[in-house]
Amino acid sequence: RAQTRKSLYTLLEKSAEFYREQLKTHANKGRAVNYLKGRGLTGKIAGDYLIGYAPPGWENLLKALGEAEDDKRMLIEGGMLIHQPDQGKLYDRFRERIIFPIRDIRGRVIGFGGRVLDDSKPKYLNSPETPVFHKGKELYGLYEARQAYKEIPRLLVVEGYMDVVSLAQFGICYGVATLGTASGEDHLELAFKYTNEVVFCFDGDEAGRRAARRALEVALPVMTDGRTVQFLFLPDGEDPDTLVRQIGPEKFEKLIASRAIPLEDYLFDAVSTGLDLKRLEHKARLSKLAAPLIYQLPKGVYRELMFQQLAKR
Ligand code: ATP
Ligand code: MN
Ligand code: MN
Ligand code: MN
Repeated sequence: RAQTRKSLYTLLEKSAEFYREQLKTHANKGRAVNYLKGRGLTGKIAGDYLIGYAPPGWENLLKALGEAEDDKRMLIEGGMLIHQPDQGKLYDRFRERIIFPIRDIRGRVIGFGGRVLDDSKPKYLNSPETPVFHKGKELYGLYEARQAYKEIPRLLVVEGYMDVVSLAQFGICYGVATLGTASGEDHLELAFKYTNEVVFCFDGDEAGRRAARRALEVALPVMTDGRTVQFLFLPDGEDPDTLVRQIGPEKFEKLIASRAIPLEDYLFDAVSTGLDLKRLEHKARLSKLAAPLIYQLPKGVYRELMFQQLAKR
């Protein structure tokens, strides 16, 4: 079994190298290179993040890496080839997409995200769950963040691959993204292994605000004393990628420092919407909404202070 995993990692590494190579040599590479340039990425940052290109066609990876039966089986297990036994079909999962390899904390390639080069759907395709890739437990960009700093100053949890890569291109190397899933408790515990300061920074749209509300509830049980969680809400229509390109990294970091809202404030804001706190029954409602959330906090000083804060409000 350990042997199997080892060769699975090797094949995923080779897949990443294959896509990298296609970006440099394939007859259609111009389209991919233009797309990346159009998004403002430099060749340097594309290299740092191993960004590649899956060309059009159903059997590129299959032919390049899947000659041997063992490798074929392993590529299926790793989510790189799709097997439909009833139709006798075997084909590449990623076709005509920009490829973002996902590395674990040790730098091993464990999965991929792929983006279309136009407006077609689905915009992103991710590797499925495999023996080495568990979406609920990995953060895109965490390995790269660790490489960039002796001590990671904070982790900025963003929504997408492009957000992580753009921020890094501008020198903000502490962005990480969940992989097409909502942030869960395991993501946060992983982040807190490497820093005491987590800032959620989702898109300035309805989906982003919903994600923040969910992140609040996920964060509560892991808020042991000494950890901080903040929320940075972006202007409508912006995401970290578009914003850092617009205002530059210095202003972006100033925004984090001056506009990120501590969890306690966001919690009380979130349960106070629509309430008129001069009215007694609204105060009672605030208490009814806030108390169960505060009870989710681990026992400790922070929790006690939150109850005091609730009483004050
Ligand atoms: P881009 O800037 O390339 O258009 P984005 O990251 O801004 O992409 P969003 O629509 O904001 O795209 O989505 C945020 C993230 O959610 C994506 O980066 C991707 O990880 C994930 N995602 C989006 N659409 C899908 C999808 N159809 N299937 C799986 N994951 C998706
Ligand atoms: Mn969005
Ligand atoms: Mn975007
Ligand atoms: Mn976005």
